[in-house]
Amino acid sequence: MTSALELAADGIGSVEPNPAVGCLIEKSGRIIGRGKHERYGGPHAEINALADCRSRQADPEGATIYVTLEPCCHRGKTGPCSEAIIRAKPAGVVIAAQDPSAHADGAGIRQLREAGIRVTVGVCEAEARRLNAPFYHFVQTGKTWIVLKWAQSLDGKLARVDPTRNPWISGEQSRADAHRLRRRTQAILVGINTVLIDNPLLTPRPSGGRRPLRIVMDSDLRIPLNSQLLQTASDHPLLIVTDAQTLTREAGKAKEIERRGGQILTRKMDIEHGNLRPLQDELRTRGVQQLLVEGGPKTLGAFLEQGLANEVCVYIAPMVLGVEGCASLGTALARKVCQTPLCHLETKRLGPDLRLRGLTAPIT
Ligand SMILES: [Zn+2]
Repeated sequence: MTSALELAADGIGSVEPNPAVGCLIEKSGRIIGRGKHERYGGPHAEINALADCRSRQADPEGATIYVTLEPCCHRGKTGPCSEAIIRAKPAGVVIAAQDPSAHADGAGIRQLREAGIRVTVGVCEAEARRLNAPFYHFVQTGKTWIVLKWAQSLDGKLARVDPTRNPWISGEQSRADAHRLRRRTQAILVGINTVLIDNPLLTPRPSGGRRPLRIVMDSDLRIPLNSQLLQTASDHPLLIVTDAQTLTREAGKAKEIERRGGQILTRKMDIEHGNLRPLQDELRTRGVQQLLVEGGPKTLGAFLEQGLANEVCVYIAPMVLGVEGCASLGTALARKVCQTPLCHLETKRLGPDLRLRGLTAPIT
């Protein structure tokens, strides 16, 4: 199951909003098939593993199938895996975790058992639930999984005072990794200051066919009409969150934004002093399973202070910026926010940088 989970993890960044799934088929102590869910809309892991089996001219009859998620039994984008498994006549199926979706929730397991297959559920369950934490969170609570991401120097600076010489804090490998993080999510959010300072595109590169919704928190509607975000709004969805009073005052600009393809959302929201819950409701309505918050410090701070972050991903560059650095997260926070350390902590070297990832609450 550990190997199946490793296979599944390869799909992260390509399968969302589907869960990442891996599958191994074992017979007489030998792996005769392996498969994973490779991309959204593509065949499921079980189908790929059975196909792999056939391509090796191995027979899955009497084998044991290890799969990290309950096989589906509904006809979605691909045929039901439960039926394909039953046709393959394995002796047993070992499942890491049940699928909590309304259309599954044990139905796939029941179907396999009714066909006389021995089914074991719950092997490496916590690991499987951690791998697809945003999927479980969204299905079970109806809430968007929120990831905060930033890059910082050793002295905690998120930006350079003069970004013209070198706008980056982190190295090339960290930035490529951050694009994979963007491919995972269905929406990416920044504050207006980030737009004014960095003029970002906020698209994943390479896109892998992904077009996450780009969201800007812009209470005074200061987004420049010539910003990269607005210039690309007809191809990549853009949502500007502002307040109702601004909209009345800036009606002309709002119209121009909409003409260029941007959408405007006004909800009673005090971004500065913190009430982001209406944004959460909007994300849920739009079916956004994962939101990536990319900054700057004020916006990241607002999510931290309201306890809305589920996951934190920080790229730490081995340099001290001193007076050449600015935008420290610590000074953007009005109050102490994190009483307990992050859990399920992972560290990874990315070139010269260190990536630190963790969750704000344990998954057991
Ligand atoms: Zn399936």
